[in-house]
Amino acid sequence: MDLTFSAEELAFRDEVRKWLRDNVPAEPLPSLETERGFAAHREWERALHAAGLSVVSWPIEFGGRDASLVKWLLFEEEYYAAGAPGRVGQNGIFLLAPTMFEHGTPEQQRRLLPRMASGEDVWAQAWSEPEAGSDLAGIRSRARRVPGGWRLSGQKTWSSRAAFADRAFGLFRSDPDAQRHRGLTYYLFPLDADGVSVRPIGRLDGKPAFAEIFLDDVFVPDEDVLGEVGAGWRVAMSTAGSERGLSLRSPGRFLAAARRLVESWNARGGDPGVRDRVVDAWIGAQAYRLATFETVTKVLDGATIGPEASLNKVFWSELDIRLHETALDLLGPDAELAADSPAAPDGGAWADGYLFSLAGPIYAGTNEIQRNVIAERVLGLPREPR
Ligand SMILES: Cc1cc2nc3c(=O)[nH]c(=O)nc-3n(C[C@H](O)[C@H](O)[C@H](O)COP(=O)(O)OP(=O)(O)OC[C@H]3O[C@@H](n4cnc5c(N)ncnc54)[C@H](O)[C@@H]3O)c2cc1C
Repeated sequence: MDLTFSAEELAFRDEVRKWLRDNVPAEPLPSLETERGFAAHREWERALHAAGLSVVSWPIEFGGRDASLVKWLLFEEEYYAAGAPGRVGQNGIFLLAPTMFEHGTPEQQRRLLPRMASGEDVWAQAWSEPEAGSDLAGIRSRARRVPGGWRLSGQKTWSSRAAFADRAFGLFRSDPDAQRHRGLTYYLFPLDADGVSVRPIGRLDGKPAFAEIFLDDVFVPDEDVLGEVGAGWRVAMSTAGSERGLSLRSPGRFLAAARRLVESWNARGGDPGVRDRVVDAWIGAQAYRLATFETVTKVLDGATIGPEASLNKVFWSELDIRLHETALDLLGPDAELAADSPAAPDGGAWADGYLFSLAGPIYAGTNEIQRNVIAERVLGLPREPR
């Protein structure tokens, strides 16, 4: 791994830094988990896209810059360091898009990716069901063959931002007689299609974007099947690799939070009680950065990310909680105030960030399951009795 950046990489970083300095809104946008905030964040996605910065690592023809993974990491570091708005399009950009590059037809890529890059289509992930979260292969929502396409029926749940999103990608059982992993197919569908109802689910922070999705005989044309019919599990594992591995949680996010924590610690005269925990959070963020650069180096040398993505997922999710707990202990009760309170330090970012960090060990596959993957598939330990 070589951390000496080329002149071209540094020039790119400077361009991004300057653009963000000139364009990041002075006041934080309202939460993207609310209707108003969602719309404001979509506008922000449009501005990023106009500057050629919404999807820097994608091919140019779909709205990207063809930037290397190293440049993408530098972009992310600058993005978080500048305090830029959260990415409302993240499910599409970081999860579906890599899957579409691998499994989508050229027609699907041309039709769907540019709209995703510009924020015109914001995507939701429709995988989990009431009885199938960790045990994803246990899904029951089904797809029935009809002329020209499929009819989808069933219930999906825990879908981030689905209350306001435009389209969704989901797994459905297309062959009821096939074995659990075999009879699944991956479909793309609009959330305003006939037969789709979306119902918000109350969340700990009270924001209304999290939702369940009901499908009642929803028509999906053949052109919106992603990958082969019956091969949905394989396609979904490509998405899951992105979710746990490189793209969903870039180190920039934790570096920026660790930096803010150190600044807060210094600004308060350096409370010795949390000193070691502040240092640990900083080290954790740096370690995650280095591990990610190492992974990127291997990927650029032709390696693929396998079950080791689970190590990543456990690491960032636990780091995020520790970092926020340390901040709350350092800053005292005011840090628990929500964003709309004028007394909340850093605009309520610590309270918001803490509540969200609690979900980290659950979404993208729970950490208990990730530990099973690490034990069995990375370390080669015996399978747990099932
Ligand atoms: C903030 C947030 C956002 C989310 N966004 C989305 C989204 O956009 N789209 C989507 O489809 N889903 C989403 N999810 C759902 C998420 O993927 C599931 O919650 C997760 O997969 C766990 O499934 P479950 O909730 O059904 O829990 P269960 O699978 O019922 O698990 C309950 C507990 O049992 C443990 N457990 C289960 N099986 C085993 C085992 N074999 N060994 C050891 N422990 C086990 C689990 O680890 C967990 O602690 C989101 C969840 C959260 C919290």
